Amino acid sequence: MHSVENFIAGSFTPAQSKQTINNFNPATEQIIATIPRSQKEDVEHAVTSAHSAQKEWSKLTLEQRADWLDKIADALEEKTEEIAHTESMDTGKPIALARRVDAARSVSNFRFFAAFGRQHTQQTFQMDDAINIVHRTPVGTVGLITPWNLPLYLLTWKVAPALLMGNTIVAKPSEITPLTANMLAQTFAELGLPQGVFNLVHGLGPEVGQAILEHPGIKAISFTGGTDTGRIVARTAAPMFKKLSLELGGKNATVVFADADLDNAVDGAVRAAFTNSGQVCLCGSRIFIESEIAEHFKQKFIEKVRAIQLGDPMDEETEMGTVISPEHLLKVESYIDLAQKEGGVILTGGTREMTGYYGPEGIGAYLRPTVVDKLPHTSRCATEEIFGPMVTLHSFTTEHEVLEMINQSEYGLAGSVWTSNLERGQQFAQQIESGIVWVNTWLHRDLRTPFGGVKNSGVGREGGQWSLDFFSELTNICVKETREN
Ligand code: NDP
Repeated sequence: MHSVENFIAGSFTPAQSKQTINNFNPATEQIIATIPRSQKEDVEHAVTSAHSAQKEWSKLTLEQRADWLDKIADALEEKTEEIAHTESMDTGKPIALARRVDAARSVSNFRFFAAFGRQHTQQTFQMDDAINIVHRTPVGTVGLITPWNLPLYLLTWKVAPALLMGNTIVAKPSEITPLTANMLAQTFAELGLPQGVFNLVHGLGPEVGQAILEHPGIKAISFTGGTDTGRIVARTAAPMFKKLSLELGGKNATVVFADADLDNAVDGAVRAAFTNSGQVCLCGSRIFIESEIAEHFKQKFIEKVRAIQLGDPMDEETEMGTVISPEHLLKVESYIDLAQKEGGVILTGGTREMTGYYGPEGIGAYLRPTVVDKLPHTSRCATEEIFGPMVTLHSFTTEHEVLEMINQSEYGLAGSVWTSNLERGQQFAQQIESGIVWVNTWLHRDLRTPFGGVKNSGVGREGGQWSLDFFSELTNICVKETREN
């Protein structure tokens, strides 16, 4: 069992209160670690440490910081197996998925931003008699708050550009999945990253997270998590005029037109629905099918969903592991009950797979991927974010009709459209109120592109240039080249 500590000023240290929180493996209910239950005073210590490192870190050139990012990428790559194992144990996700997605992307986040930073050129705007030079400076100490579904993947997505642009960091991972963030801190310690540049404070959202939001010495907050928490973040940080990036929840649509390559669309829709037990913010949990192919699509879709290999996350053959916790299992199940009350028909799933794994009542965290038909698109199950292995199916007859159904959502994070007419796909995608739309694919990511949501799915964009913009302040310097008059 690990005894995880905070990482502040280059040292591992317990919470000043010495209080701890247990960390569980959702597949076995075993306690796998204890983490510090930190409070305001620990955040204060972390901010002081970050401030004292700020000057030296920001004095490095972009090239030197890019070199650091490459070193970090190399060190994480060497730990791929350890990361995959740890992430799988902490989240209940299949180890193959943790290796392919979580570990690989954590490495490429650093590698990508290193290369992207090196290509960065200073922007200038020439006038007849003057030149404007856009000068970037670091924001200062930034707060990074991340969720449990893709723990290291999402943390490194923020850490890499924040470091590149010369900021120092106070980070808080979800208390449910703290282990790979701790591995990142250990990696920084091994590499000798200057002390205080990266600080990690573990604990509960309303305690440590809130203290980070409230600290006047933290100048920007990059937050990924649920929409309700996002409201708290905005409410707390906005009066201090902190820079804010909010990546929040979603209720994403998958739209299958009758002219789609059906096998490809079925594969894509299954992947979009159930990757990571449906616990990816980009998952397509509302599937809209053009009525003339609806029955055929459903038949193939159900067949494929039933074939998903559910089981021990540590087994290489497993395609779906547990959901994140017993509490979350109960939440998803409450939506399955609600679906039936709302008149829905469960086509497959709806039941636990291996009961008796844990919990006082022998609760199992393995829920069969669940497909619900016949619910109105306005039902609660089809409008609220469930964030688990449960999707609803809806049919439509016209583009106009499906567009209206999709855009009625309070969310606007992502979507996918399946059609053999690429022009139509593009036109249709432009009308979806959403930050990202894929045509004939899903979760196909180019890290240079803007990432973020509209409506209740967030504010701001990260990725490529947008991350550099968020993690820097811009000063326009206008130099007059000729004398006045
Ligand atoms: P939460 O909003 O519950 O938590 C996110 C983070 O915020 C956690 O570290 C949490 O800590 C912390 N937190 C909680 N309360 C506060 C507070 N008062 N002040 C500051 N921080 C706080 O989200 P989940 O962890 O449950 O993650 C799932 C959600 O994340 C889903 O809604 C999903 O859609 C969204 N998400 C969005 C993504 C995007 O890019 N748009 C990507 C991935 C997920 P603790 O865990 O200790 O409570």
